[in-house]
Amino acid sequence: DNHASPSFSIGPKSAAAFENARKLMPGGVNSPARAFGAVGGTPLFIDRGEGPYLYDIDGRQFIDYIGSWGPMILGHQHPAVVEAIQRSVAKGTSFGAPTEAESRLAEQIINAVPSIEKVRLVNSGTEATMSAIRVARGATGRNKIIKFAGNYHGHVDSLLVAAGSAAATLGVPDSPGVTPGAGQDTIVLCYNDCEGLQNAFAEQGDQIAAVILEPVVGNMGCVPATKEFMTALRELTLKSGTVLIFDEVMTGFRLAYGGAQERYGVVPDMTTLGKIVGGGMPLGAYGGRADIMDNVLPAGKVFQAGTLSGNPVAVAAGSATLKELETHPPYEQLDQRGNQLAKGLTQVAAKHGVPHQVQHVGSMLTLFFNPDPVSNWEEADKSDREAFGRYFWGLIEEGIYLPCSQFEALFFGIHHSEEMIAQTIDAADRVLARG
Ligand code: PLP
Repeated sequence: DNHASPSFSIGPKSAAAFENARKLMPGGVNSPARAFGAVGGTPLFIDRGEGPYLYDIDGRQFIDYIGSWGPMILGHQHPAVVEAIQRSVAKGTSFGAPTEAESRLAEQIINAVPSIEKVRLVNSGTEATMSAIRVARGATGRNKIIKFAGNYHGHVDSLLVAAGSAAATLGVPDSPGVTPGAGQDTIVLCYNDCEGLQNAFAEQGDQIAAVILEPVVGNMGCVPATKEFMTALRELTLKSGTVLIFDEVMTGFRLAYGGAQERYGVVPDMTTLGKIVGGGMPLGAYGGRADIMDNVLPAGKVFQAGTLSGNPVAVAAGSATLKELETHPPYEQLDQRGNQLAKGLTQVAAKHGVPHQVQHVGSMLTLFFNPDPVSNWEEADKSDREAFGRYFWGLIEEGIYLPCSQFEALFFGIHHSEEMIAQTIDAADRVLARG
């Protein structure tokens, strides 16, 4: 799968490190996207990050548009976050007992996110969505859940039913090892399709425990929910007593301090968080209406636990990050930079006659190599992956590090200056000129 035939020569140290890693870990990585499989080639091995930059082990500098796939909105080594981690770690790394710091972070989350009255801290976005689904089922006494094709909610068995239209309608899991049973209560619908949603509720609304969605999708490239879709979701779930779950693992604290729900003014019943809420440490959270969350053990009977849940070091990083975002809200600036980048990329793509669609909300953005607007997975799937691969490697050569897939949104943070965005657009101009 080397269709992109990168002209960029990977540094000798990264090449050797990848060869070694492949003997030790499946595919040489601890999470599959990192292997650059979608664009062909060898991943860069990273030595360190600083502000908006990453440095690979061959000593090369890149402008980072991945931000660890979302968390690093404050950039790498933000002094407030580093200091909070250092202060915390000096007191011990894990106690398996309550700490006041957990309550402080819980309070910050509750104050920020409109739908969250009570919250539970976990270790990842996957744990957050897995637990939220369990709680929704426990609270409603129903089994079925609705998810949308092209939405990713972590590697939860029942949520790995996702892509490909046949697999989607049949509810066939996408991964070997996920049993048909695990997916049989998962209904997969088309994103932004109000009619499909209405039909599902008309047929079996009283059996549906939860609807889970990314309110702005990052995981098929950047695809926002339409206003009509959001409204339909809220109305139908309210009417049938179904728990509406916004998976804001990507969008939480990114599209606004209170996430997509604040930005769009639609309040779900439950919300899942990860990435930014942990400030670059392993931490996720799920929360919602108090009456729903009080189903969780030991207040209620729905089981969920974790040796490292609410880990003090992760909590310190998350808490410092949220404090920084609350006291110095970057959202207006991020919106301006997003507009600048979207406008610039649109112009250069048009100039070179590249079929394109730039979609963005705030600091999430995708240049789809696709002539038509993308509002669901079927449309996203028509994008030209090879053109994206060439674009990706061209930008790497220019010192710009994008997510290595057409179907991932790029992220930027507070350090991406107007000049840096302009530099990025100039680089895209040169890359797209080559076709
Ligand atoms: N939900 C969304 C929307 C995500 O983007 C992700 C990860 O990319 C997850 C859940 C899973 O989070 P984690 O990778 O922390 O398990």
